[in-house]
Amino acid sequence: MATVAAEHVGVYATAGVHPHDSKQGLAGIEELLELPQVVAVGEAGLDYHYDHSPRPIQRDVFAAQIQMAQRHHLPLVIHSRSAWDETFEILDREGVPERTVFHCFTGGPDEAREALARNCLVSFSGIVTFPSGQDLRDAAVICPLDMLLVETDSPYLAPVPHRGKPNRPALVPLVGEKIAEVKGVPVAEVAAATWTTAARFYELRAADAAKTQALAD
Ligand SMILES: [Zn+2]
Repeated sequence: MATVAAEHVGVYATAGVHPHDSKQGLAGIEELLELPQVVAVGEAGLDYHYDHSPRPIQRDVFAAQIQMAQRHHLPLVIHSRSAWDETFEILDREGVPERTVFHCFTGGPDEAREALARNCLVSFSGIVTFPSGQDLRDAAVICPLDMLLVETDSPYLAPVPHRGKPNRPALVPLVGEKIAEVKGVPVAEVAAATWTTAARFYELRAADAAKTQALAD
């Protein structure tokens, strides 16, 4: 992914160890964070739904990546599933990085409030369009427009009416449309706000400038 991102302006990468892979450790991640196209640490966090790695290891590897984000002054992209209490506990213990986002948010209004209280962004995926996604829609209602992002999490979680097919970045407008609908604001407003927030959060202009420089060298 970092290789693709290096060659295309407008494409960026994050580097981290997903909770599923925690047991593999963090070897090689710190070096990737030095690359100009790598704009964040992550996905990092806890996944107690699948438990692909033992929980104590997930917790240690998450904590280490929080420290990494702070050391490198990079944003942290959190993946948290069925592990809200411990996610917030570890964040509070290690110190919430200045720029932190809950990617593919799966909580409700209570969890969104906890995230917002820590100045974290909340990123909504196609789940917000699912009939079963009422909790997420309620969370979106309470998220200020400048504290939320939209994403696909492709190839997973294709939004309605594409469910069951592979997801792709081109479907992200459907997520934005649903957010606009539940918040009762124009779609263009959601598009503009999420774009501005993403560019600021990931410092995308600086990343593009550094990439262009690296390609020229
Ligand atoms: Zn994830």
